[in-house]
Amino acid sequence: MENNIVPLDIDESFTFSCSRKVPCFNECCRDLNQFLTPYDILRLKNFLNMTSGDFLEKYTTLHNGPETGLPVISLVSGNSPRLQCPFVTPDGCRVYTDRPSSCRMYPIARALTHSRETGRSTEHYALIKEPHCLGFDQNKTRTVREWLATQGLEPYNRYNDLLMEIISLKNRQKPGPLDMKSGRLFYLALYDLDSFRTAVFENNLLKDQPFDSGELASARKDDTALLMVGIKWVKKVLFGDK
Ligand code: SF4
Ligand code: SF4
Repeated sequence: MENNIVPLDIDESFTFSCSRKVPCFNECCRDLNQFLTPYDILRLKNFLNMTSGDFLEKYTTLHNGPETGLPVISLVSGNSPRLQCPFVTPDGCRVYTDRPSSCRMYPIARALTHSRETGRSTEHYALIKEPHCLGFDQNKTRTVREWLATQGLEPYNRYNDLLMEIISLKNRQKPGPLDMKSGRLFYLALYDLDSFRTAVFENNLLKDQPFDSGELASARKDDTALLMVGIKWVKKVLFGDK
């Protein structure tokens, strides 16, 4: 049976519930093709009390998009024949409070479109009904807006939208595959935050860049502030943002 995709407005309702009581419990946490965003990695590595470098080495694979040359980071599958997520346990997700955005969003998908004429972005939502998921048979109804709020998606969507902005800027300013050096700097500043912090504060990577002392003082201690510095730096230095 194929997936059924149903477009929804943000205030439209859908019926779905997931808990340990569903017969398909944990079925969605295997055979994944799961991309991780910079904010997903920030949250996961801090939850697991790991450096970004150790997290990336242990839990992710990297390839470069054939058309853009941009790094694409995916979660590794476990060694079992079921190709389970490395974070799934018989009791559920062991990183639940800091699980990636795609896990939070499911069974809703979100896309953002941007109008060049008005400069405005519009969010689009759809319900993805997969045959193995029995959550749609449960008797719980809510709107997409309520779902986003209960899944803690606000910061994920905010930072993920900034990544989409960078990709769109890159496609305008440097269409085609990115060179390897730029790809490595993109990865460093957005995904390997602890190494980026060392490069910034010990190796003077941002020399002559217009960051104010307050921004840098926050970035020294706080990963989300550092990610914002990384985003600005990538936009300006790699893709010529004014
Ligand atoms: S991170 Fe958690 S919710 Fe997401 S696939 Fe892995 S175990 Fe499942
Ligand atoms: S109801 Fe759906 S989301 Fe929940 S465990 Fe089953 S397959 Fe996964």
